[in-house]
Amino acid sequence: MEEMSVFKTGEPNDAFKDYFVGQSYLNMLTTEQVKVANVTFEAGCRNNWHIHHADKGGGQILLVTAGKGWYQEYGKPARQLNPGDAVNIPAGVKHWHGAAAESAFQHLAIEVPGENTETEWCEKVTDEEYEKLNEVQI
Ligand code: MN
Repeated sequence: MEEMSVFKTGEPNDAFKDYFVGQSYLNMLTTEQVKVANVTFEAGCRNNWHIHHADKGGGQILLVTAGKGWYQEYGKPARQLNPGDAVNIPAGVKHWHGAAAESAFQHLAIEVPGENTETEWCEKVTDEEYEKLNEVQI
């Protein structure tokens, strides 16, 4: 996968591959103080529905660095993402994020510190759900 931004793409995201549809890449930029990862998605790749749990604080912030993608909270319309966009994901909210069908996508994922933080991975975003979004985009 060629580089998409000043942040290196890193390695195939094998550790989380069961929780993604398609190929993603992970580069942990910092593991101290606040954890920040650069996540790159090939076109069509997205993560499963998931929830960032925390008893206090927690959640996730996405900063889009390249490409086109989607963010969706359960039961709400999807939001189209472009470079420069920021997404605040509160703890406890079921959601997914990933690439558009025709474009690779990259975001920084910032793990907001909290108490007893844990990510719960849920069902896949089906092709049917996903293709519907990409039709609307046109
Ligand atoms: Mn997330």
